[in-house]
Amino acid sequence: MSPQSLPNGSPLMGTLRTAWCGELRSDHVDTTVALCGWVDRRRDLGGLVFVDLRDRSGLAQVVVEPENAEVMEATREVRAEFAVRVVGRIVAREKPNADLPTGQVEIRAESFEVLSSSKVPPFVVADDAPASEELRLKYRYLDLRRPSMQEMLTLRSRAVMAGRVALADAGLLEVETPILFKSTPEGARDYLVPSRVNNGNFYALPQSPQVLKQVLMISGCDGYFQIARCFRDEDLRANRQPEFTQMDLEISFCKEEDVFRVAERFVQAVWAAGGHEVTPPFQEMTWEEAMEKYGSDKPDLRFGMELQDLTEQLAGVGFGVLGEAKSRGDVIKAIRVEGGARFSRKQVDAFTDKAKAAGAGGLLWIKCAEDGSYSGPPVKHLEEDQLSGLAETLGAAAGDLLLMVVGPKKKARTALGTLRVHLGDELDLRPKDRFVFTWIREFPLFEEDEKTGALAAAHHPFCMPHPDDVELMKTDPAKVRALSYDLACNGEELGSGSIRIHRQDIQAQVFDGLGLTREQAQQKFGFFLEALEHGAPPHAGIALGLDRLIMLIAGRDNLRDVIAFPKTASATDLMAECPSEVTTEQLDELGIAVKKQG
Ligand code: ASP
Repeated sequence: MSPQSLPNGSPLMGTLRTAWCGELRSDHVDTTVALCGWVDRRRDLGGLVFVDLRDRSGLAQVVVEPENAEVMEATREVRAEFAVRVVGRIVAREKPNADLPTGQVEIRAESFEVLSSSKVPPFVVADDAPASEELRLKYRYLDLRRPSMQEMLTLRSRAVMAGRVALADAGLLEVETPILFKSTPEGARDYLVPSRVNNGNFYALPQSPQVLKQVLMISGCDGYFQIARCFRDEDLRANRQPEFTQMDLEISFCKEEDVFRVAERFVQAVWAAGGHEVTPPFQEMTWEEAMEKYGSDKPDLRFGMELQDLTEQLAGVGFGVLGEAKSRGDVIKAIRVEGGARFSRKQVDAFTDKAKAAGAGGLLWIKCAEDGSYSGPPVKHLEEDQLSGLAETLGAAAGDLLLMVVGPKKKARTALGTLRVHLGDELDLRPKDRFVFTWIREFPLFEEDEKTGALAAAHHPFCMPHPDDVELMKTDPAKVRALSYDLACNGEELGSGSIRIHRQDIQAQVFDGLGLTREQAQQKFGFFLEALEHGAPPHAGIALGLDRLIMLIAGRDNLRDVIAFPKTASATDLMAECPSEVTTEQLDELGIAVKKQG
């Protein structure tokens, strides 16, 4: 079944048509059909007129013969993107088109009705036709008529439906939580909505349904999910949207692995809807292990190239950059690039630039030649046995390239981790149709501001601290791990979750760690703290970013391609031209005066 296939006889077909364009095959020859759709192309070949007709299911070729004067007349002014209805008999094509699923047949038009004319479209509605993204977003309704966009809408709808069924079958209840609510902290700014009936007061659009799903657990719901719209006013990065969709879930009386198993059911169903088989349970690793081995908290496990630590091994060697790393408190992280000795000097320089852009001070490289010799900047500073020891630790063989980054642990790991992914691309190790999932557990509870040293919740303030780190809460909170986890796949974070704090005393400790006074906590989450004191069950959950999930399944790189009406990088909707000004009357009713910026 093609992704767009539509069941014949479905109520959607209605009374105006009897078939879908994309579904016509040789079996239908000699039947008469009524089709509705858009003109993809009209070609006048002297005597005959051909009209390619497009609907959601695909394309069909309509032929108008000169002897049919009435129909000929009806098609005379027809151009691309007119909406039309055609009735005709299906015949076998004289020259079949093997590139088109309907290429064996065509429709001899017996009647041709223009239902709606179209202006000349600003771009050709076809997958390979060029159009800037700006234009595509401004005329999104035309952009969405492209077959690949219809395919995406279909995939998304099917995937969400399958995921919903999987979660409902697992016993979770779908519950809608309000959009007009109070601030829910997920580390971004809130979108505020002024209240007309309570002038001067504001709702905040949910950054996530976090607090409410926890309240649902306290309410005895036991298992909840929602395909939830979330709003985060952040400085937008390339692949972010200010409003996006999460598959949000929460369950009670559970452990981490219980959440994993439920979420895996969803992932499995969604991937199956996209035609891919995935087999849970997914592997697991701790955050520390992921950072140590892959320099990333969302490692791409489609390939190896693990980071190794050479700090101990190279301590004291004659080459200061390496030999003194340990005493400086730095680390040496290294990777072996199999067959990488063939990279040119220019390519290696480009790797250095990549590593530097990711925070490394520099990149050291060693090439292993076929004759067992080594070349590269550190070579002349190292003894023969130091070189061979290093090569042995990295498992290097002739033809390999060894890359090293020296520096503070955090920077060295992430810089080499970024380079690792870049190398994965260079070496074609990241096929889009292979998916490797992993759970990453035990994230740090807090994040330290690099400049001020102030602590912020790494995720949100409701994550349960790791029970083994309770003492550290008082002595070294930056080191406290949380019972929190992410699901990562192919170098992307698909979602995050945690075991929640269900005890007031621990919640208070975390607020203390965040420098939140009792009064502030009370003002922000008073209702929730109160709820926690009414028999809150242990509970945990996760939210998976649905847009990103679909992007991965569809093999796309751009989130905007999998959202029907996305916003630009500056958070605007080009089609509707919003955000936009409102009338003075509206502002007056809301009790708002606008201070003009700049
Ligand atoms: N509310 C969290 C988020 O949006 C997910 C969770 O902890 O369940 O990332």
